[in-house]
Amino acid sequence: METDVLVVGGGVIGCALAYELAREGIEVVLAERHDLNTQASGGNAGSLHVQIMSFQMTIEDLRWRQIIDGNVRLYIAAVRTWQELARELDSDVELHVEGGLMVAETPDQLEGLERKAARERAIGLETHVVRGAELFAIAPYLSDRHVVGATICPIEGRINPGLATPAIARSAERAGARFLRHTVVRAISPDNRGFEVETTRGSIHCKRVVNAAGLGAGEIAAMVGVNIPLAAPEVLHMNVTEPACQFVDHLVQHAGMRLTFKQASNGNLIIGGGWPAVIDPATGLPAVTRASVEGNLWIAQRIVPELGHLRLVRTWAAVNAGISSGPILGEVSGLPGFFNAVFGDAGYTAGPICARIVVDEMTGRTPSVDRASFAIERVHANP
Ligand SMILES: Cc1cc2nc3c(=O)[nH]c(=O)nc-3n(C[C@H](O)[C@H](O)[C@H](O)COP(=O)(O)OP(=O)(O)OC[C@H]3O[C@@H](n4cnc5c(N)ncnc54)[C@H](O)[C@@H]3O)c2cc1C
Repeated sequence: METDVLVVGGGVIGCALAYELAREGIEVVLAERHDLNTQASGGNAGSLHVQIMSFQMTIEDLRWRQIIDGNVRLYIAAVRTWQELARELDSDVELHVEGGLMVAETPDQLEGLERKAARERAIGLETHVVRGAELFAIAPYLSDRHVVGATICPIEGRINPGLATPAIARSAERAGARFLRHTVVRAISPDNRGFEVETTRGSIHCKRVVNAAGLGAGEIAAMVGVNIPLAAPEVLHMNVTEPACQFVDHLVQHAGMRLTFKQASNGNLIIGGGWPAVIDPATGLPAVTRASVEGNLWIAQRIVPELGHLRLVRTWAAVNAGISSGPILGEVSGLPGFFNAVFGDAGYTAGPICARIVVDEMTGRTPSVDRASFAIERVHANP
C-alpha cells in the first residue's frame, strides 16, 4: 500500500489527525492495533479539563510548572476546537460546556484555590473563587456541611467519548481517510522516498508518519531511533450510577481528594478522579478494585449527598499513558517526515487541538498554539 501520511493509532488523536488531513485533501491511512477508540480514548471519563489540577499546584520544579502552564493554554484552545469540531460532525456527541467547579472542604484548600486562580488568570484562564450563598446558588447539589468554596472555570465541561471518537472517524472516512483496524505497526525504516512501514497486514510505503500510538508511542518512536520518555502508565478506575433527573450541570472536581464527577446526558452520574485500578495478571487487562469503588463513592457522596440515593450500575478501568516529559507534538528535527502527536494527562480534552497543531505544521500553516513548548527537542535538551 502507498499513501502520503500514515497515522499510527486509532484513539482520539489519531482519528482527529485522519479527519484533519483528509479534509485538507491529503491522502491518509490510519493503522490501529485493535479497533478504533478501544484504549484510553474509549475508556476515559469524558471530562473537558482546563483548570490546573490541585496536585499540580504542589509541583515546585520550574520545568514542570512551565509544562503545566503550557497545557492550560492548550486546553483553552482545546475546548474551542471541540466546539468547532462538534458542529461539523454527523451526530450529537453530548458536548456540554457549562463550567467546572473545583471544590474545597477546608480553609487551607480554599486558600490553595485562591493561589491557583491567581496563577490561572496570569496564564490567561478566567477562574475565580466562589463561596457561601453564591456557590450554593450556582450548585445547590453540593453539601453545605462539607464544601466551603470552589473555583469556577466557565469553559470546562463534558463530552461522550463513546460517541465523539467514532463520529470523528466516520467524518474522516467520508473525507477519504482509510482505516486499517487490527493492524499492528511492527517496524519503520526511513528510505529516500519516506518510510517503509511493516505491519501485521503487509507493508505500507508513506512519505510521512504520525505517531499517535498513546501507550505504544515510545515503541513506535524507538523504531526510528527517537526517544520518548514515558512514565509508568496509570491504570484508572471509573464508576457509573443509575440515571437520575438532571441535577448536576457542572464538571466537579475536589481540591484535595481524588474526585471528578459529572452527569451524562442520559442522567448517569460518571464518577472518577484518579482512583487506582490494577492489571489482572490472568488476562493482562485492566480490572477494578473494591477499595477504589468504596473510596471513590465515599468522597463523591460526601460532596453531593444526593448521590447516596443512587445505585452503582457499572465500573470500568482503563490505562492512561504517562509521558514523563509532558506532551510531544510535531516533526522531529533530523528526521524529516516523522511527527509525534503524544499527549498523556487530559489527552481527550486535548485530542483535536493536538491533531490540528500537527496538521498545521504539516501544511505549513502557523499553528494557533505555539508548538515550541511541545517540541521533542525541548525534551531531548532537558532529559
Ligand atoms: C480511566 C481514564 C479516565 C480519563 N479521563 C479523562 C478525562 O476525563 N478527560 C481527558 O481529557 N482525558 C482523560 N483521560 C486521558 C485520555 O483518555 C487520553 O489522554 C487520551 O484518550 C489519549 O488519546 P490517544 O489517542 O493518544 O491514545 P489512545 O486512545 O490510547 O490511542 C492510541 C492507539 O494507538 C494504538 N497503538 C499502539 N501501538 C500501536 C501499534 N504498534 N500499531 C498500531 N496501533 C497501535 C493503540 O491500540 C491505541 O488504540 C483518561 C484516561 C483514562 C485511562
